[in-house]
Amino acid sequence: MTNISNILDSEVRARALVRIGYFDDTKKRGRQVDYRRLLGWFVDFSRKDLAKMSPAEQFSLREEIRALQEEGLNFTVNDASVITHWIQTQEAVAHYLKTLTETGQFYSEPFQLKFSFTIPQFLPEGAAQLKERIYFGEFVEPFDGKGLLYLLTLALRHAGDRLRYCKHCSTLFVQARRKQRFCKRECQQVASMRALRMIEREARKTKRRSSQANRRASHGKKRR
Ligand SMILES: [Zn+2]
Repeated sequence: MTNISNILDSEVRARALVRIGYFDDTKKRGRQVDYRRLLGWFVDFSRKDLAKMSPAEQFSLREEIRALQEEGLNFTVNDASVITHWIQTQEAVAHYLKTLTETGQFYSEPFQLKFSFTIPQFLPEGAAQLKERIYFGEFVEPFDGKGLLYLLTLALRHAGDRLRYCKHCSTLFVQARRKQRFCKRECQQVASMRALRMIEREARKTKRRSSQANRRASHGKKRR
């Protein structure tokens, strides 16, 4: 059964954020994101067939979108609002990634950036649980998917150098390791099998050629 409540349950949101690459860092302040994984999430999102996804898959993707849009803000994004923009947002994400990887450059649309400040000592209701003396945030209002596109630009800024096209299947992916050349293990295996066969074929050819040459050489000797 799907839950169409307007407020994303905090546990559901936390789980969605973990799927995307967010984690709590106790040394730094609050929640951190692995931009490499966030960028990977956008790359996956850009090629999902929204119409063919099962209702459960659709719902969990919308949970992720809502969680991303709400992250760090005091906004609640309802499921219905995601449905109104996710197709256009997906197109925009795909367009950004395509332009960037095909031309090497891209300019985002303009964003209206807002800054938030919290100084707990001035909060009317007190701030027993807030440890820092000042909190600062910058964000783009999440509505209409703009907040999501802004997050994509942040992910590109921090991890865009890891975008690659797979050497085997040409799928766009984000490198987990610097030297990674294939999008997944299967592609790597097929490619190394091919390389191995090529080496074997070359070796056989060289062998055949040298034995033919030897035969010719010995024939020559006999005739002499
Ligand atoms: Zn591949």
